[in-house]
This record gives sequence, C-alpha cells and structure tokens, in this order.
Amino acid sequence: MPERRIPVSAPDLSGNEAAYVQECLASTWISSKGDFLERFEQGFADFCGARFAIACNNGTSALHLALLALGVGPGDEVIVPTLTYIASANAVRYCNATPRFVDILPDTWNIDPADVARKIGPRTKAIMPVHLFGVPAALDPLRELAGEHDLAIVEDAAEAHGARHQGHLVGPLGDVGTFSFYGNKIVTTGEGGMVVTNDLALRDVLRLYKGQGQDPGRSYWFPVVGFNYRMTNVQAAIGLAQMESVEAKLAARARVAERYRSRLDSRLTLQATSPGDVSANWMVVALLPGGGEAERDSVAALLAADGIETRPVFYPLHAQPPYLPHESDPGGYPVAIDAAARGLCLPTWGGLVDGDIDYVCDRLLAAVERVTA
Ligand SMILES: *Cc1c(COP(=O)(O)O)cnc(C)c1O
Repeated sequence: MPERRIPVSAPDLSGNEAAYVQECLASTWISSKGDFLERFEQGFADFCGARFAIACNNGTSALHLALLALGVGPGDEVIVPTLTYIASANAVRYCNATPRFVDILPDTWNIDPADVARKIGPRTKAIMPVHLFGVPAALDPLRELAGEHDLAIVEDAAEAHGARHQGHLVGPLGDVGTFSFYGNKIVTTGEGGMVVTNDLALRDVLRLYKGQGQDPGRSYWFPVVGFNYRMTNVQAAIGLAQMESVEAKLAARARVAERYRSRLDSRLTLQATSPGDVSANWMVVALLPGGGEAERDSVAALLAADGIETRPVFYPLHAQPPYLPHESDPGGYPVAIDAAARGLCLPTWGGLVDGDIDYVCDRLLAAVERVTA
C-alpha cells in the first residue's frame, strides 16, 4: 500500500455547512421552500453578475431547463462540442432535439468556432459552449455567429464557477448559463444545479418548467408539462456556506494549478487559457506525449499504485453509443479524439499542499518516462 493517498478531487466542507444544515433542520424547512434557497440564489446571482439565478436539483436538469426555456424542441439542432461530459448532449436529446457535434481548439480544448460556422444549418437553434475543466470558451466569435443566424447561446459552466472571460464571470454571457454543484465541482451542494440569465421572461419560463409547470398565480393549474427539478433548502444551506469561501477556493485552485504549471510546462502539454481569460481550474489536465489511450492508461495505473488518483479525459460524445449511429462524420474530430486519448486529469483541489503536487509531478514524469521508454 502506498503511504500517500491523493484523490483526484475532494470537497471542502469546513465552513458553515454543518451549522447551516443544523439551522435548516431546526427550522423544519427541509423541502424546496425556505430562506436558504432565496439567499443561495441571490448570492449566486450576485457572485456571477447575473440578474437572476434559479436553483435546481442538478446541473443536467439546469441544462434541460435552459434549452426548454429557449424553446428548443423536436427537429431542432443544438451545436455541442464533442469533448464534454455526456450531460451536455443528453439535455438536448431530452428536448427531442439533436446535438450537432463540433471539434475543439488545440490549445484551450474548447468549442472550435470555425467548425461551429461549418455546422450551422436551417434547423440550428442554439450553440452550447462548454467551459471545459474551468477554461473559458471563445465566446466572441460564437456571439457573432449567433447574431448572424439568430441563434441562442447556452453556456454550460458546470465546471467553471468563477472563471472569467475578458474580465466577465462566465454564466450570464450568453442567453442562459448553467452550473453544477455535484460533489467534485468547484462549489458543491452534494447534488445541485443553477441556471442564470439576465432575461426576466426567460427567468419566468425557467421557474415554470422547474416547478411541474404550475401557473405561479394559480395553484394546481398547469399550462405546460413541467418537471420536478427543485433544489431542497438543505442543499441550498450547504451551497450558501460554500459560496462564503468561493474566492478562497478559487485562489487555492489557482495556486495548485500554478505549481503544476511550473513543474510540468516544459515537459508535458497542459490545457491553455486564452489571453485575457482566467480559468477556474476545475481540473489540471496534461496531454501525455506519444501513443494514445493504452499508454495513458498505463501511466494512470502506475500513478494509482503510488496512491495518486487520476481521471481520463471524457470520451468524445459523437462516438458514444447513443450518438454514433446518427453521426455523419465520425472522423471529423481529430483534435478532440487526440485530446481524449492522451489527456489525464490530475488531482486538483484547494487542500493540496505543495508537497502533494510535487509528489504527483515526480511520479507522473517518472511514469511517463517508463511507459514511453
Ligand atoms: C458535471 C457536469 C454537468 C452535469 O452536472 P450534474 O450536476 O452532474 O448533473 C454538465 N456538464 C458538464 C460539462 C459537467 O462537467
């Protein structure tokens, strides 16, 4: 057994989480109404500079709500990068619409605007940039395309709480933005999600669909088929406590990422952030030299034997069983296919000390040497 165990991520619940949950229990307001919900929503909206924030039960339903509110439905297409978590595409499918996949850029590994331009067609309704691993996507060319073709932009910011694009926090930079509060995300509520928007009409539709489609002015009257996507007051109590230290969390992650960079930059390729942007550093990801998936997995196995947990990068979505049969150009994603095969997510969380990071880097470089020798 290795003496050190370094998980790939670990939540920090050392603030007011327990106190607020206790307070929530004592109040008996443990379901989806209560003070903590309102305070969490308001606090989150203020944090990312959005007019409105709507809490929900996870980041996947946040995406589903965003697409529903924008009117995405049967026959529509939504442009999604192929290198992202499966939820980005599944939410499109929940609307009986079709994800149209695009390749990624070789530096930031985010949606490639030139490929987006090629894949816009008469059925395209929206573009979904994903701020992958916390690195902001190139929104300006996407906004231009959206303007020209009358498309909506849905930011999937599930991994990017606190990331900045040209000085602005991501989330409210398109029409609707979504976040996840899963246990390994930058801010967690156990399970949870948030939708942000600056548009009052969209806010109302988001609330409508989240709450079973109930008319806000008439109890038990349902103008649409909605969903029960509500967050509980208990989750919001945890979220409120998490937000009290969000700046400290981001600073700690920045310190961790910087140390990885100083140790690895000359040896391995790390995911890049565009000039003027600031990553939220959800995961530090390294591209291993040469080979592909088999070598990457051998390096991961050597690290596991050293007590270091890592994660492979996502498999490209266009090649996943639900989507491959509909794919007309499975070879059309060379950058994503390469990053997916060679990318390795390294332990990234605020509690890592410099000695942990140095240990990971030493073992990683040794493992790479052994596998590629
Ligand atoms: C985590 C994640 C989601 C989904 O969030 P859940 O809260 O797990 O439903 C969506 N998109 C991306 C890119 C994610 O990383």
